[in-house]
Amino acid sequence: MKSPNLLRKIPSVGDLLESPPLKGLVERVSHNVVVGNVRSILEEMRVEVQQRASEFRVPPIRELAEHIARRILEGERPGIQPVINATGILLHTGLGRAPSADSAIQQIAAVGHGYSNLEFDLDTGQRSQRMVAVEGLLRQISGAEASLVVNNNAAATLLALTAVAAGREVIVSRGQLVEIGGSFRLPDVMSVSGAILREVGTTNKTHPDDYQRAIGEQTAALLRVHTSNYRVVGFTSAVGLEELVRIGRQHKLPVIDDIGSGAVVDFSPFGCGGEPQVQASVAAGASLVLFSGDKLLGGPQCGILLGGREWIEPIRRHPLARAVRVGKLTLAALEATLRLYRDPAGARRDVPLLRLIDTPMDNLKHRAERLAPQLAACERVAQADVCQDVAYLGGGSLPAQGLPTWCVSLVASDGHVGTLAQALRKAAPAVIGRVQQDRFLLDLRTVFPGQDQQLVEAFETLGGTTHPAMAKEVEKEANVEKEDE
Ligand SMILES: *Cc1c(COP(=O)(O)O)cnc(C)c1O
Repeated sequence: MKSPNLLRKIPSVGDLLESPPLKGLVERVSHNVVVGNVRSILEEMRVEVQQRASEFRVPPIRELAEHIARRILEGERPGIQPVINATGILLHTGLGRAPSADSAIQQIAAVGHGYSNLEFDLDTGQRSQRMVAVEGLLRQISGAEASLVVNNNAAATLLALTAVAAGREVIVSRGQLVEIGGSFRLPDVMSVSGAILREVGTTNKTHPDDYQRAIGEQTAALLRVHTSNYRVVGFTSAVGLEELVRIGRQHKLPVIDDIGSGAVVDFSPFGCGGEPQVQASVAAGASLVLFSGDKLLGGPQCGILLGGREWIEPIRRHPLARAVRVGKLTLAALEATLRLYRDPAGARRDVPLLRLIDTPMDNLKHRAERLAPQLAACERVAQADVCQDVAYLGGGSLPAQGLPTWCVSLVASDGHVGTLAQALRKAAPAVIGRVQQDRFLLDLRTVFPGQDQQLVEAFETLGGTTHPAMAKEVEKEANVEKEDE
């Protein structure tokens, strides 16, 4: 019988708490967290000893303490943490879409820290509306008379359809029945809203007559949806917004324009034109214009509805509006972001999304060339080259919409690009790149210049190897302090 002896070799909680790596952590983390982790690991060990005593080796106390310390530090890393986006996808939904402007972050901190005048008029001392500040800015930027901000564009679409058309028909071209990222499918949103989908035209061609013929007693609105993530090409025709507005006016019907990404500047000088512009939809006379706050606007997650007061006010008063309203932190960030757009040159400089899109190729190339030798010197990298490639807007924008970029292209030292990608996801900070055949690409289009050094450090913390046996050794030698960076 081996196990009683082995059990006796397992150190006590008290001994472990006295060992250097854990002793230091008690002060930095908390006594309860450290003791809790020590107890649960010791318990796991006792179970192991009882189940497979013959193969079990009780590690030396120092090794065990380091293992526990690492586990505690891993647990202390927040669930949502910053990552370096080296995918080249500017609006990566998995990576949180648009990065926030400095002024937006400052406003979130200022407003979030204490109380604010969210729904309080400082002039009169009366209760007021939470949208007042952003409504003024949205009017200035877009020309729209009124606006409403909700949780996201899916909520904006659902709310608009419910308030305007529940129980009645909404006419949509068959070519515009979009699915954006799985859970947003226009026919499903329509059915939840209670509006009845009336499809017209064909997949590739819809004519003004198709709308005219479908309009009847039951019609509540005409809906146009931007086909953000696909294009029907070839033998096609769609009815333009001006024409749709003309038809709507003729029948006294509102036109709802879901433009999706919501550019307020012209993106064609950046080499990615063709995105519908907010001001153009408002000017063309759409009754309601809907778009996301965290796509091409480069703001926080929200959905923005613009339109005439006669359309916005009933929507604002609809009970569903309360269910999808935005909080003060979102409004603070949105207001700060919108302020940047009052000066186009300032927006290009201070809205991070625009700054990334606008980074000259020379700058990206220069940085790639500087990074390549530094990364090549890291143990997990066998070879590092620079290469020109294509980055994408992402976030439900056109997949074919490419932007030129420069990358560092890596060969993993053990030949396994997948394990290198995995190790980098666990690095501090986590690095998400792009796997292209047997290469691991770091696309600098989405990496902020201030992150270049962090990128190198993330590679350096990986150590040398992926073989499980060797990995244990590396782990043993790993400095606990270093992992906390
Ligand atoms: C992205 C998109 C949506 C969904 O917007 P979220 O803000 O992600 O809810 C809806 N419609 C269109 C056309 C889009 O591009």
